[in-house]
Amino acid sequence: MALPTVAIVGRPNVGKSTIFNRIVGERVSIVEDEPGVTRDRIYGTGEWLTNEFHLIDTGGIDIGDAPFLEEIRQQAEIAIEEADVIIFIVNGREGVTTADEEVGKILFRSKKPVVLAVNKVDNPEMRADIYEFYSLGFGEPFPISGSHGLGLGDMLDEVVNKFPEKKSEPYEEDVVKFCLIGRPNVGKSSLVNALLGEERVIVSPVAGTTRDAIDSVYRYDGQDYVIIDTAGMRKKGKVYEKTEKYSVLRALKAIERSDVVLVVLDGEEGIREQDKRIAGYAHDAGRAIIIVVNKWDAVEKDEKTMRKFEQEIRDQFQFLDYAPIVFLSAKTRQRLGTLLPAIQMVSENHSMRVQSSVLNEVILDAVSMNPAPSDKGRKLKVYYATQVAVKPPTFVVFVNDPELMHFSYERFLQNTIRQAFTFEGTPLKIIARKRK
Ligand code: GDP
Ligand code: GDP
Repeated sequence: MALPTVAIVGRPNVGKSTIFNRIVGERVSIVEDEPGVTRDRIYGTGEWLTNEFHLIDTGGIDIGDAPFLEEIRQQAEIAIEEADVIIFIVNGREGVTTADEEVGKILFRSKKPVVLAVNKVDNPEMRADIYEFYSLGFGEPFPISGSHGLGLGDMLDEVVNKFPEKKSEPYEEDVVKFCLIGRPNVGKSSLVNALLGEERVIVSPVAGTTRDAIDSVYRYDGQDYVIIDTAGMRKKGKVYEKTEKYSVLRALKAIERSDVVLVVLDGEEGIREQDKRIAGYAHDAGRAIIIVVNKWDAVEKDEKTMRKFEQEIRDQFQFLDYAPIVFLSAKTRQRLGTLLPAIQMVSENHSMRVQSSVLNEVILDAVSMNPAPSDKGRKLKVYYATQVAVKPPTFVVFVNDPELMHFSYERFLQNTIRQAFTFEGTPLKIIARKRK
């Protein structure tokens, strides 16, 4: 189920990122835990009174060289597009400014629930100054201090109060949901259009029904699929949709709802740092993954080109060694036909269960052929394994001491399971437990 989304909006320097960091705190994903990435983080998960939610700092979304007012207008539009509740932050030390009024007007028209927070109210005496903010039309303003951590509880109470009823997925359990993620202009929307135009694809006339996405529902080879729309793929036109930060945001939301993720690369441009970051999110989320190299028509090729590109992908995306690679062209439809069977295949593997008896035969065989190296005189012993979950396939391995299960041995067990049962396209999770 998708978590509610809260967006922080307001002009520069009112304290948006200070408050974002207060709410999200130390919770950082593996992908973001790299130097230089945390600094410009705009998307995180927060929790208040057992309510988990996504939080977006729209101030971190850079709209290129748009003039100041245009930029904050666009950020407000993004908040309206993406969020269930908006926190509108103003500066209690400066009073209502023209820019605040501009943003206020846009938010007001949208009819989205808005919580107005007056920041930099660092001491109780300053609370008298917040009344002028009633004029923005969002009811009672909440005095807060991001830097001192004051008033945030009352503000979040109000935010949580305004959450919509929990929304569940409108599709049956056996429908395969997938999305296409990637940098702007790699050809995601062209690919969706090409896929839906395939001869054997029967597109359902009923478009998806979720609020913030236009899902495409279709049937292929007896199986129902839903394409989860990412960057507003089917209704382009907004300037911010072509910014990288926004494409990450939409990718995260689409990944959350999908079983299978197609990581789309631009064959003409090659691999960029941003491609790896986006793919990393899909891997972290445990989704089945296919790497799609689009625009293959535009690449000058000889008989080695494909193998060279493939090797480069394997070098650059080592964490995706399980993902099949498909080379194609949305434009000429060359090899397009290989994509649907690939989606079908990885989706089946993603939800495959293996028999415990066979699993144990395979694992115990591998362990006896290749025992774990000893660690300070102690040796890992593997007793028994069992599959406890699918999507992704998850295995609990009972051992003498989980501390002795090192990353490389875990990788070895993963590879063993993957090869024995052809788990192509899906990450595998291994959890070491102490045998009682
Ligand atoms: P943003 O541009 O809206 O994201 O604003 P920042 O979070 O970067 O904050 C802008 C400046 O205001 C920084 O120097 C912060 O330290 C400061 N600031 C943020 N919150 C408070 C607050 O509650 N009180 C005071 N006095 N300063 C604050
Ligand atoms: P998105 O931003 O990822 O959705 O990318 P679009 O689908 O809007 O495509 C961006 C540009 O790449 C457009 O000009 C497309 O015509 C072009 N494009 C998309 N797919 C292909 C392809 O397979 N080959 C070539 N040569 N161009 C393509």
